[in-house]
Amino acid sequence: MSIGLRLADTLSRIDAAARAAGRSGERVTLVAVSKGQTAEGVREAYAAGQRRFGENYAQELVAKAAALEDLRDLEWHFIGHLQRNKVRDVIRAARVVQTVDRVELAQELDRRADRPVEVLVEVNVAGEARKSGCASADLGELLQRLATLSKLEVRGLMAVPPAAPDASLTRPWFARLRSLAEEARASGAPLGPELSMGMSHDYEVAIAEGATIVRVGTAIFGERARKD
Ligand SMILES: *Cc1c(COP(=O)(O)O)cnc(C)c1O
Repeated sequence: MSIGLRLADTLSRIDAAARAAGRSGERVTLVAVSKGQTAEGVREAYAAGQRRFGENYAQELVAKAAALEDLRDLEWHFIGHLQRNKVRDVIRAARVVQTVDRVELAQELDRRADRPVEVLVEVNVAGEARKSGCASADLGELLQRLATLSKLEVRGLMAVPPAAPDASLTRPWFARLRSLAEEARASGAPLGPELSMGMSHDYEVAIAEGATIVRVGTAIFGERARKD
């Protein structure tokens, strides 16, 4: 199947999942994850109507953004672990940084940005030892600190739950992210409405639990050259 057909299939599944959850009127944004894929693959998805793409590595983002700079309305989301020394490169290319998980990184984004930057706060929902993301218990304090940084717009939360053989096992982690967002808002934290959760194997379940952004790679582009 071509990228265009797989994209169309993904979009119709997103729509069906939203309807099934009684959310047909609500927007669910697809970020097509192009890490490990070629710029030509991105071009093909763009030609089929896709506008938002996700990248995990600063260097790869910069190279692809340069190769595709003629596509003016293409929007890059950074979805990987971000090191402070890569912030400048990343915010030059990316409209949204989905993986803010610590104050020092947020401060660097705020310092380097010459325009408002949309960010999501990544939460390590399962408390996994070797994973990025803010600890659930620290979320409230991090959100308070982010609120003091004038260039950052905190649009919502993002999570990458533990990989599981069956999407039903991931579902409680999606529910957890949603309730963390609800609790944070209830306690007065300035937090936008987005919940970025769900990948190729589980985005329909994530939508059932309230995802407003899904990040789908393999289901659209096929297997990646580099596995991660
Ligand atoms: C790679 C990646 C995705 C996409 O994964 P697929 O299984 O290919 O859909 C989504 N989110 C993040 C953070 C990723 O690293």
